[in-house]
Amino acid sequence: MTLHPFDTEETLDPPDWPQMAALAHRMVDDAVAHISGLRERGVWQPMPEEVRAFFRTPVPEQPGDLAQAYAELRQHLLPYSMGNIHPRFWAWYMGAGSFTGALGDFLAAVDGSNLGGGNTAACELDRQVVTWIKSMMGFPATASGTLTSGGSMANLVCLTVARNAGAGVDVRAEGITALPKPLRFYASDQAHSCIQKGMEILGLGARSLRLIPSRGDFTMDVAALEAAIAEDRASGWKPVCVVATAGTTNTGAIDDVPAIAGICRAQDLWLHVDGCIGALLKIAPANHARVDGIEQADSLSLDPHKWMHVPFEVGCALVKDAGLHRDCLALHHAYLEEKPRGIGAGEFLADYSFELSRSLKALKVWMALKENGVAKFGRLIDQNIAQAQYLTALVEAEPRLALMAPTTINVVCFRHVVPGADEARLAALNTEIMLRLQEQGIAAPSDTTIHGRHCIRVAITNHRTRREDLDLFIREVLRLGQEIESGAA
Ligand SMILES: *Cc1c(COP(=O)(O)O)cnc(C)c1O
Repeated sequence: MTLHPFDTEETLDPPDWPQMAALAHRMVDDAVAHISGLRERGVWQPMPEEVRAFFRTPVPEQPGDLAQAYAELRQHLLPYSMGNIHPRFWAWYMGAGSFTGALGDFLAAVDGSNLGGGNTAACELDRQVVTWIKSMMGFPATASGTLTSGGSMANLVCLTVARNAGAGVDVRAEGITALPKPLRFYASDQAHSCIQKGMEILGLGARSLRLIPSRGDFTMDVAALEAAIAEDRASGWKPVCVVATAGTTNTGAIDDVPAIAGICRAQDLWLHVDGCIGALLKIAPANHARVDGIEQADSLSLDPHKWMHVPFEVGCALVKDAGLHRDCLALHHAYLEEKPRGIGAGEFLADYSFELSRSLKALKVWMALKENGVAKFGRLIDQNIAQAQYLTALVEAEPRLALMAPTTINVVCFRHVVPGADEARLAALNTEIMLRLQEQGIAAPSDTTIHGRHCIRVAITNHRTRREDLDLFIREVLRLGQEIESGAA
């Protein structure tokens, strides 16, 4: 063992750059093989105990061999990933990733800039991506926006601006205890859980979010919304904001945004649209009319890591009135003063964000848009919706299957039925079908319960899915249904 002389300074740079380059090239080659060979592998597989054990080894104290660490990762990490990049993954609601996106994350790290702000090309690129998204969404150039870690954070940014704008007191200075009346927000009973979490984090409490019942098509009952607002005003609440969902997580239902926007205008309420699923329909040639009106929102959240397949994570919050957005989040202490020149010149991106340090996550969005253009992303969205209609037709043609909700966009809710079976038995059967599909690596749907009825849920947010995958899926659902019903293991 050679000891470093006491005056030798260390660095994290590799001692042998060509050797590092060779390793990096190998990683790229392996990555290409991994992604191009997806269809030949199962969607997911359970992790053996020794893999779990590998991730419980203690922190290394001394330097190790990076090539060796990479070999260990190839064995233990990639074979046990979630599977959402596979053509037959349709669980929850996720994008399928892209190789270009992976390169974007790599190049963002190579650039290394901190996106809190600064006089850098990275900040210009971030602003350009936000501007592109504004134009894709029909928002004016004067609106503000920020790229977030995802939709939950984008919704939280927007709810915060809505709260501060509607509070009637200076919430930043006085806090919510200074509110003369409790604030009330509204969303349908199908709204995403992050809306309630947001209310909790904002200190308003879950009860400040009044859930409006959804109708048979799972959209918000707009008449019930109007009645709730009137009732709340009469009983001492201060109605502040309506959250409309453009594409619910359960079924893909799209709230009647034009009608809700009319109510918000008449009642002087903030309109926030949670468009994490559906906002991108705006760019889909055959389906954009479904989200007419979202451009009227005071704020809009969306998720490029869903229907644009940008690798995790990137969400986006847009706010129509940039001044209100800035008033909510800008804060400059002495060490963060704005300067007329130099590296720190220009408006801070952190003036629109909770976070100060952020990565150049904009780069993977920028590269994806440069490579494909808005039009191709729009066609891929239409393609998923056509595939969901195809799957719906397969379900409707099969007497052993029942459609459980109208298919609006790319989410299909259905279940295997058995004559005479009650709800509990059907829930058990369909859960078991779903779990076997996942465990056997065949396909990955998820499940949910809507209006009290359990169902298998297929959300086709996947640029790799083909119709033959859906044919195979239905064949396997029926096979497993028979296997389970006949008591076979
Ligand atoms: C996915 C989703 C969210 C949360 O987004 P994340 O990116 O997972 O944080 C919010 N709202 C809706 C409607 C969603 O589908």
